[in-house]
Amino acid sequence: MAGVPVAVGDSVVIDVVGMTHEGQGVGRVEGYTLFVSGAVPGDRVQAEVQSIGKSFGRARLAALVAASPDRIAAPCEIYEACGGCQLQHWGYAAQLRWKREHVAGVLARIGKLPVAPLEEAAGEAGGPGTADAAQAGVREIAPDAGRAPVVVLPVIGMDEPWRYRNKAQVPMAAGIGGHGLIGGFFEQGSHQVVDMEACLIQQEQNEETVRAVKRIARSLGYSAYDRATGRGLLRHVVVRHAEATGQRMVVLITNGRDMPHADELCGLIRQDIPGVASICQNINTSATSQVFGEETRVLWGDEVIYDEIGGITFAISARSFFQVNPTQTERLYRTAVDYAGLTGEETVIDAYCGIGTITLFLARHARRVYGVEIIPEAIEDARRNALLNHINNAEFAVGPAEVVMPQWQAEGVAPDVIVVDPPRKGCDPALLATMLELRPARIVYVSCDPATLARDLRVLEDGGYRTVEVQPVDMFPHTVHVECVVGICRVDT
Ligand code: SAH
Repeated sequence: MAGVPVAVGDSVVIDVVGMTHEGQGVGRVEGYTLFVSGAVPGDRVQAEVQSIGKSFGRARLAALVAASPDRIAAPCEIYEACGGCQLQHWGYAAQLRWKREHVAGVLARIGKLPVAPLEEAAGEAGGPGTADAAQAGVREIAPDAGRAPVVVLPVIGMDEPWRYRNKAQVPMAAGIGGHGLIGGFFEQGSHQVVDMEACLIQQEQNEETVRAVKRIARSLGYSAYDRATGRGLLRHVVVRHAEATGQRMVVLITNGRDMPHADELCGLIRQDIPGVASICQNINTSATSQVFGEETRVLWGDEVIYDEIGGITFAISARSFFQVNPTQTERLYRTAVDYAGLTGEETVIDAYCGIGTITLFLARHARRVYGVEIIPEAIEDARRNALLNHINNAEFAVGPAEVVMPQWQAEGVAPDVIVVDPPRKGCDPALLATMLELRPARIVYVSCDPATLARDLRVLEDGGYRTVEVQPVDMFPHTVHVECVVGICRVDT
């Protein structure tokens, strides 16, 4: 390709100087950018060019010439094949530093925000155990006289960044030759299922539950769903473990309503898995890759399990969203409540509220809180959770936030603070427009995708708001995912 200094098949030695948001190392040959999978900043690698484009190319790590001081041996045996984690070969402190830099870079590049130099930001350099240091600072999310740059704080990391996930979602498939039943993970970049016994980011209870369910399903002769033919029974096994109560939930996602040997299944699960409080079947006959179908049936026990975060009890049903890292969730929610700056007098809206987690945290410090969420069962859970915790100043609505918020506006709801916690695609433009019309004094944005966050912050900034402070929280150690809580305030009066 004209103007590109390398060709496919070339072998080049490069210094890795950065990392992409997907976790590939970034290096340069005569100013031309190469993405090298498996390489980390500080490495010098021999890379074999696999594809080239106008602005960048991709290369394979052929040999490590000199290892970065931050490079470590990935502890997980199936790390390379799995792809569920992308950063296990990189020391945890380096991961946290990178996540902070990544957030700051995206806010500047996509959001066109003035970001304070990272070394000047409050707190020490990112590293495990910075939670308390970061939490100790008093935050005032208030308008400033000029345009103070956005402060991106060091990432709140975990002290022990393993075995954190409280939920496993395991695809099932037939074994070799189309026989038997296996379950584990999709091989990187394919729909091939690889059987898995252990996963180091899962809580051990989930690992144990999945192993037992697979064994029981095999003993009952269950077949695996086959995407190609649309036949077979089991699509996914989803298990949850509530760390605070020890309760476990098992959900079998089936390709049809029929659940053969259901009584025997429940008997064996109860016998073999301690703490099981709920066994559900979810029916999904669609040809899509979506995990859950619309209908859930309780096969045995309760339709929910109970967990606790920060002294609030939550009922969680099969399809409801619940943060997967309980240790970090509490830190995330506390930061969100902190940025909301509540005195007890405020009206607050919590959009994308799920089962009312952040809503109920806010309710304890506000006059009235409104939560909105699109999944009906989640709102049922949210209402149940308010009752369960004797919180009576929270009100919930089912529907798209971008539709419900204007309805509240028409009814005269005037929020002092709006909290949003959207999925990866960020806030709907109609929701952002309504937020600007409602003109709350403060907005708290909880985001799991820095790019859509940056895009939405630009809209809010152009509408008279200022991004004051960003607190990244490491919800997903060893993966490239970055969660942020952002304190935003209105500047025009
Ligand atoms: N704040 C909650 C949930 C955050 S996840 C918590 O921390 O637990 C995002 C939630 O947004 C999910 O529950 C999802 O079902 C919901 N959601 C997705 N699109 C939505 C929309 N357009 N309107 C309202 N909720 C939506």
